[in-house]
Amino acid sequence: MSNINILANAKCINVADSISLHICSWMLCQKPIIKKRARFYCSDKCRDNFYDNHLWDFARIKAMKRANNKCMKCGAKAEEVNHIERLNGGKRTFTCLNHQDNLEALCRACHRIITNQQLKKKKLYEKPSFTIEEFMPLFAKKNDL
Ligand SMILES: [Zn+2]
Ligand SMILES: [Zn+2]
Ligand SMILES: [Zn+2]
Repeated sequence: MSNINILANAKCINVADSISLHICSWMLCQKPIIKKRARFYCSDKCRDNFYDNHLWDFARIKAMKRANNKCMKCGAKAEEVNHIERLNGGKRTFTCLNHQDNLEALCRACHRIITNQQLKKKKLYEKPSFTIEEFMPLFAKKNDL
């Protein structure tokens, strides 16, 4: 649990540090924890904020509510929630990529368009999956047929 993905602009304290330093885990707070039974948060409000910005089930519902259940691109009924900075294979269950400013509620059509744009963008930076040494024998084999 201590290995949280951190957004470039996010400053959450990871849970392990939060326990040892006795400071609130929620990045916008970071106050000392006084209550003994609370381990990561200074208050119920910070716990709720932390859940709404990290745990996917809470973050998704919060993102929908924030957008009044309307697609943030076209205003149609929102059905899905998109990560603006992509998870890139990471799990969405518990991550700083679930911060509300990284989520947008979308209708299915807009989500599909945006996901395709995000995938295309990623492809530009992707390394070729073969090195030239690996590729040449395949090329030669194909020409033999
Ligand atoms: Zn707090
Ligand atoms: Zn839409
Ligand atoms: Zn965070």
